Amino acid sequence: MNLVLMGPPGAGKGTQAKRISERYNIPHISTGDMLREAVAAGTDLGKKVFHILEKGLLVPDELMYEIVKERLRQEDASRGFILDGYPRTVAQAEVLDEILQELGKRLDVVLLITSTEDEVVKRISSRRVCPSCGRVYNLLTLKPKRDNICDDCGSELIQRKDDLPHTVRERYRIYKEKTAPVLEYYRSSGILKEIDGSRSLEKVSRDLFETLENV
Ligand code: AMP
Repeated sequence: MNLVLMGPPGAGKGTQAKRISERYNIPHISTGDMLREAVAAGTDLGKKVFHILEKGLLVPDELMYEIVKERLRQEDASRGFILDGYPRTVAQAEVLDEILQELGKRLDVVLLITSTEDEVVKRISSRRVCPSCGRVYNLLTLKPKRDNICDDCGSELIQRKDDLPHTVRERYRIYKEKTAPVLEYYRSSGILKEIDGSRSLEKVSRDLFETLENV
């Protein structure tokens, strides 16, 4: 199953992508995670994108093309994949079609998790991440067992700079401006399925799985 998960920042894409990845045994490819890992590792790519990520702006399409093409070529993506955070512009969606064509693949479905700006700001401001192992928590919906401590590795949780409210509003604005047209691109090709992301994680997961069973 080759699928794209879309929705505004904070709609719960990462959490849902992990659940789908486990159930279908296909890799969760998050371009945001890949970029953050590059920043943390201090690679050339990381140095180029550090300030862009911090401000919540978009990394140039050409750079994203290289990253995604390389990732989709890897062996573990041969049986399927979940792309999370890509494509974010119509140009990226067009390029993705080309990459997939070259690899002899095509998208089966694009899942859109919807959410309003206020919901998104509320959720993201409550998000905390583990700087050591990358696990993501939410102080409202996915709390760690001990206050501010990662369940898996015991490190102290942090708030990402791009999760501060004013940056979240900027990311939402960019989503509306640049990414909403991508939804039209997929809607017109008939592969877009919408899921109401304002409900609990469990309800959203149930809907997602139901939708995937009918693809
Ligand atoms: P995310 O975790 O998906 O919200 O991504 C975090 C940040 O990484 C975004 O705010 C962008 O700066 C950058 N990023 C991730 N994916 C893309 C993409 N497809 N195109 C451009 N920038 C991206």
